[in-house]
Amino acid sequence: MSRELIDKFGRVHTDLRISVTDRCNFRCQYCMPEEGLDWLNRSDLLSFEEIERLSRVLIERAGVTSIRLTGGEPTVRARLSELVKRLAAFDVDLSMTTNGATLDLLATELKSAGLNRINISLDTLQRERFIELTRRDELASVLSGIDAAVDAGFSPVKVNAVLMRGINDDEIVDFLKLGREKGVTIRFIEFMPLDAQGEWSNNRVVTYNEILERASEHFEFEPVKRGSSPAERFAYTDGQGEFGVIASVTEPFCDSCDRIRLTADGQVRNCLFGLDHVDVRALLRGGATDDELVTAVAGEVDRKWAGHAIGQVHFLRPSKSMSQLGG
Ligand code: SAM
Ligand code: SF4
Repeated sequence: MSRELIDKFGRVHTDLRISVTDRCNFRCQYCMPEEGLDWLNRSDLLSFEEIERLSRVLIERAGVTSIRLTGGEPTVRARLSELVKRLAAFDVDLSMTTNGATLDLLATELKSAGLNRINISLDTLQRERFIELTRRDELASVLSGIDAAVDAGFSPVKVNAVLMRGINDDEIVDFLKLGREKGVTIRFIEFMPLDAQGEWSNNRVVTYNEILERASEHFEFEPVKRGSSPAERFAYTDGQGEFGVIASVTEPFCDSCDRIRLTADGQVRNCLFGLDHVDVRALLRGGATDDELVTAVAGEVDRKWAGHAIGQVHFLRPSKSMSQLGG
């Protein structure tokens, strides 16, 4: 059996986000409580064999064309490059989102294992602020991780910054300068209500329009035609690269969202903000056939709703935090 993963609104889902662990070496304020969360036991995590099988089935029989590894922090999972090697053997665009702190050690190994693309999350360029935001003194490692990713040959390296009013919104221009200097693409992301502390509010969101206004005071740029990426892209007119804005809150891209999410404990979810899931770990461990796996994932995709409704009265926060969902 072969079928596309299409929801009832006609959206085709081809992008699988795999969280390989719920653990993290950081404790970003907007993502995790200071003391961490109750980590999953090793036996609760999908094994590499299970991840590989589900990926194969979804690529070969359900039209998945891209896989992004995430977490928690994906580089915390032991022998990550072995998993990368297994997945890179499939016909798939393989990428990873990481906090970058260990890339100095891992970038070359991951590139040789077959990882195609890398996104690094970094929300401030100021050391004290970094310590406050991530509860770790690792800004220098992240900056050298970015250099290591560039040196390893990843291109383009994308650096994602979540902007929060009153916290780091005065760094927009500094980020753009860093991007131009290092030859990496900066992408600003609007703050979403998935923070572990429940401190999100609408007026903490630094909007797409504000970001462009601030950027245009210092640089000249023009829009680049948007592909399937959720980022609105802008190219500097002097040819020195581009930057992007992901306006998940003020300009939701739900209409063109093509993502499906697999949590570290084997739940398939049709949306970051979804309240439900299908337990594929139980299916994998219960002897399900490939057809049964496809049918279960297709059913989850079919249940997908129209959009996340952030800011509307009927919006409900999911019970899991961003670190458990994969971002
Ligand atoms: N640890 C990796 C990292 O930080 O890149 C991967 C997992 S992390 C949950 C994935 C992405 O989610 C990161 O770019 C992070 O900045 C983003 N994120 C976490 N909490 C967020 C929030 N409340 N709003 C917007 N983005 C958030
Ligand atoms: Fe860890 Fe990434 Fe969450 Fe920060 S954003 S706590 S690095 S999972």
